[in-house]
Amino acid sequence: MTFDEIKHDDEEYLMNTYGRFNAAIVSGKGATAWDAQSKEYIDFTSGIGVNSLGYCDDAWVKAVTAQVHTVQHISNLYYSPMQTEVAKKLCTLSGFDKAFLCNSGAEANECAIKLVRKYSTEKYGRERTTIISLKNSFHGRTITTLAATGQDSFHDYFFPFTEGFKYVEANNVQDMEKALGDETVCAVLMELIQGEGGVYPLDKAYVQKVAELCREKDILLVIDEIQTGISRTGEFFCFQNYDIKPNVITAAKGIAGGLPLGACLCDKRLGGVLSLGTHGTTFGGNPVSCAGALEVLNRVSTNAFLTEVKAKGEYISNKLLALPNIKKVRGMGMMIGAVTEKDNAKAVAAACVENGLLILTAKNILRLLPPLTITYREIDKGMAILKKVMEETI
Ligand code: PLP
Repeated sequence: MTFDEIKHDDEEYLMNTYGRFNAAIVSGKGATAWDAQSKEYIDFTSGIGVNSLGYCDDAWVKAVTAQVHTVQHISNLYYSPMQTEVAKKLCTLSGFDKAFLCNSGAEANECAIKLVRKYSTEKYGRERTTIISLKNSFHGRTITTLAATGQDSFHDYFFPFTEGFKYVEANNVQDMEKALGDETVCAVLMELIQGEGGVYPLDKAYVQKVAELCREKDILLVIDEIQTGISRTGEFFCFQNYDIKPNVITAAKGIAGGLPLGACLCDKRLGGVLSLGTHGTTFGGNPVSCAGALEVLNRVSTNAFLTEVKAKGEYISNKLLALPNIKKVRGMGMMIGAVTEKDNAKAVAAACVENGLLILTAKNILRLLPPLTITYREIDKGMAILKKVMEETI
């Protein structure tokens, strides 16, 4: 099929919910992808932080394929050794005690929201269900996770939303203190780096203060690690950069290296809250996804790998700072945002695609979430394209 045929059928048969770039990716290896016309692209996106090991990593393909040949799905009515292995690994690596496995980030957050509300209503009564989240946050696309998202632009349609969410300004301790004074509050939900919001890392002192305030009032701290987790920031989970211990964290995206899997992890005290029959999913914890996840988790969690993520992140940031039209770079590890002088990130990203580089935007900035295994050669190749785009096209 030609690109035009693919685009035509996309417009004809799919709901038009995405602003797509002019490329149809049909294959990939490492951090390099090819389109229907065999044009090559360097990938600084990893499918928005999903393909942790890049495209079609040999060992990952082997693990996933072996699982497809063994059993592709079992109902959650039966025990699954794949699920228990993934849950054990996630708990061991994060210091949490229990996991619920689902399919996506929004579902992981839904699970966390149910968990904190059930804990609170059982302990304090039905009035204590409010969840505080941050302005400019993003927590998903279901009706409830849209309600949790602290951006008015996501609240324009789809009424009525789930009640019980309030929003405070990020990095503003006073605003948070005031909000937590409300006796109906049961939890705080936040990303430590606001990804979709424009790659804004929260201040460490602020996060530590929020954790302390929550602890004092038995308000549960939920960290949305969907974009920041699975070694993206140079620690296995981003909260490990902040020296805090949340009560609940959620993960998805990079966890299974490109297959749908999400997780909600909690501490011992909360481990029994979602009791028999109170939560569930048909596909969640699928064995093929779990096989992919085990390969990812075993690889990305070693100290040597985490050190390499930090080093590559620094290398990319320095390269970006040396480019024309780059005003500022922010982020952590390999979750990087770049502010352009000309405020033209969207045009730059589109021109990059034309020139063979896949790169993301978040709000009005460029955003880079490369596969964690990207090579220095691939980084240099991608940076050369970005440089050319900055110099010539824009
Ligand atoms: N939370 C955060 C921080 C995200 O970045 C995203 C997706 O971008 C989500 C939740 C929703 O995840 P999903 O698209 O897998 O439902």
